[in-house]
Order: sequence, then C-alpha cells, then structure tokens
Amino acid sequence: MPTALRPGRKSRGSSAWDDWRWQFRNRLRSIEDLLRAFPELPAADEVRQAADRFPLAITPYYASLIRELSPQDPVFRMAIPSVDELYNPPFLREDPLEEDHDMPVPGLVHRYGDRALLLVTMACAMYCRHCTRKRVAGGRETTISDRSLTRAVAYLREHPEIHDVIISGGDPFTMTTKSLERVIAAVRSVPSVDIIRIGTRTPVTMPMRITPELTEMLRRYHPVWVNTHFNHPNELTPAAVRACAMLADAGIPLGNQSVLLRGVNDDPTIIERLCRGLVRSRVRPYYLFQCDLVRGVEHLRTPLSCGIEIMEYLRGRLSGLAIPTYVVDAPGGGGKIPVLPNYVVSTSPTHTVLRNFEGMLVSYPEPEGYAPQRSRGTKGESGATVWDLAAGKQGRIVPQAMPRHERRDRREDIPFTGLD
Ligand SMILES: *Cc1c(COP(=O)(O)O)cnc(C)c1O
Ligand code: SF4
Repeated sequence: MPTALRPGRKSRGSSAWDDWRWQFRNRLRSIEDLLRAFPELPAADEVRQAADRFPLAITPYYASLIRELSPQDPVFRMAIPSVDELYNPPFLREDPLEEDHDMPVPGLVHRYGDRALLLVTMACAMYCRHCTRKRVAGGRETTISDRSLTRAVAYLREHPEIHDVIISGGDPFTMTTKSLERVIAAVRSVPSVDIIRIGTRTPVTMPMRITPELTEMLRRYHPVWVNTHFNHPNELTPAAVRACAMLADAGIPLGNQSVLLRGVNDDPTIIERLCRGLVRSRVRPYYLFQCDLVRGVEHLRTPLSCGIEIMEYLRGRLSGLAIPTYVVDAPGGGGKIPVLPNYVVSTSPTHTVLRNFEGMLVSYPEPEGYAPQRSRGTKGESGATVWDLAAGKQGRIVPQAMPRHERRDRREDIPFTGLD
C-alpha cells in the first residue's frame, strides 16, 4: 500500500484506518490527492480533464486495492477517471432509464407498480466511473430534506400498492446512522410497505462503515434487505467479507448487483470467481447488469453477446444459487429486461425440444389433456402486457403513434373489390 494512503501519526495510526469517518474525510478528491498517493500515476493530465467533468472520490481503503497502476487493473479502472469518459456518441443520455420522468415527487422513482426507489443522498464513498446516476451522484453531496422525505412518505401512504421501497442514492450508508434511521423509520411507518431494501456499495468501497451501531439500528426495522455491488473478486477482501458477515448476522439477506464492464469483469472466469466468492460470503448474486447507455461510460460497455456468453458459461458449472440474472435496463425507460441464451429449441402441441448446457437435445413430452386455469392472474397497473397475450386474455398490443396507424386513420373507408 502506498504510505501516503495511511493515516498520519496525528490520526492515531491503524485505528483511524478502521474508522469509516476517517476514510470518508480522507477520500482522494482531486488530481493532487491522487498524485500524492500515486506519484507514478500515468496520463495525469488526461485524468485531470475527466475529473473536471465528472466527480472523483476514492476512499484510501479502496485505493489500497489497486494492485497495478494501470487501466488494466480492475479497481484502477472502476475508480480512476479516464479521458475516455469525455467520448460522447449521440445515443448516450444523462438519464437513459428516464428516472427523472418517473418521479411523482422529487427523489422517489415509481417505475414499477409494486415498488419504488427513494434517492436519499447524492454522496458515495467512491464515485464509480461506470455509475448509471453519473448525472447526479457526487455533483453536490446533499441528502434528502425533511420536506422531500415528508412528501415521499405521503406518496407511499397514498399508494398502498407499493410494497417494496428501495433506499438508494448515491450511497445511503454514507449518511450517519442517525440520519439514515430518520429515513428508514419514516418509510417503515407506512403500513403497506412490506420490505425495505437498501442499495449500498460501502461493503466494497468502505467496509468499515458496517459497524455494530449500524446493524443494531437496521435490525429494528426488519424485514430489511441489502443489495451491494461487487464487480470483481479483488474487491472481496477480508474486510469486505467481514462487513457482509455482520449484515448477514443481523438477519439481513444480502444480494449483489454487478455491472458487466469492459476490461474489468467481461470474462466468464472472472464472473465465476466473483460469484463463488459472493456465495461463500453469504451474498446471493442477484443481478448482472448490462452497462447502461450513460454519458461518460461508453468505454466500459460490452456487447450484449458478452453477457449472454457469460450466462451460457455459468449454467451447469455453478450452483444455481451463485448464478445471477443478466438484465438490460432498456434505454428510454423500458425497464429491466432479462436476457438468457435460448434453451427452447422447438415446440409442438405434444413435445417441446429443449437443450441443456452441454448441447444435449431432449424431447419433453407435454401432459395430455391439460386444461389451464385461465382465471389466475389479474391485470397489473401496466394494463395489458405480454402475459395477457400469452394467456389469451388480450388479442394484441399495438404500439402508439405509428405513422402507419395515422395513415390508416386518414384513409377513406372504401372496400377494395378488385382492380378496375
Ligand atoms: C431496478 C429498479 C427497481 C427494482 O427492481 P427489481 O427487479 O425488483 O430489483 C425498482 N425501481 C426502479 C426504478 C428500478 O430501476
Ligand atoms: S456507489 Fe452506486 S451510486 Fe455511487 S457512484 Fe458507485 S454506482 Fe454510482
């Protein structure tokens, strides 16, 4: 570890290192901080250009995980700004998931009927170069005001169909335990909220944040779930594993949401090692995200085929518990779309042909005289969906505002009876 990262004598040596407030206060926030820690930093001028455009922060702990001072190193690549962030092709957006359009009140994203996402702080321990919320995370390190929290809670009360509230940001665990408790208690006061989920990267970037004080607070608001964000096995340090164990021991089920990143984890064997390490640390791999079409992140994106290939590799080789769902959060606010290799090869009324991971083809005989129970299921808040088509409850779903439909609407209603 570069000595410049270590606490000075004034900060009481190693106990300061283990204090999350020391880590947070001593984040590397500028190119000068980076050069002090890493005098050999390559392409410092280019790093400066990128850091002028997008926020920079790295905890001394996370910086100490850099093994090689080069973009070949996964931790370096996720943490150190790159001039490639300034590359800006036209299909990139500040807000490709259109979260801002799905905010009925400031900070509350209600995209799916039964769950909502509450942004509670714009601060993170480390600003990931691949962040989907690059437009807001770290711009100003603000936290939710009393007024916004009151409005969000009022909205949750008026919408009892919301059963799952995801507390996110930024990183909620950068808040003090007291201010985070204020948010959690407010959400928990809504009777229709079943589960509270917290999205945090601190077990990865600042594991000393997981303190007995924090877990004691969280366990008073069960059911509380935590989703964290490991992307590479190098992040699964003893300190990170300990942080996960403390959360799990507090009765908190842990999930992991990775992002598939070029030059970081776009390799089936890296994802395999990561997923094995996660289940060993009592963390269930939940999602593997395709990198979003966010401005400043293009150099880290992979083709979809890369993710599908990884899923093909994992199935059959790994415990099902260790296999995440690969999802694309579709641009234009399309939402999460799971993507898998094709396992259904062909089908007839009597047999379905399936293939397994080894390439074996099997004929699956369908049961005779099966009468489906068509009463099951109700229309969701989206109205008719593809499920309604599959269940025969709806004949078609027609995209809105198509030139062809406008043409048809304009057409005079004269039946065609053959050519003159
Ligand atoms: C991802 C996401 C959720 C949660 O989706 P799950 O599939 O239940 O994990 C909720 N709201 C928004 C806006 C999201 O992007
Ligand atoms: S911790 Fe999450 S919100 Fe913060 S920069 Fe990383 S990806 Fe973005």
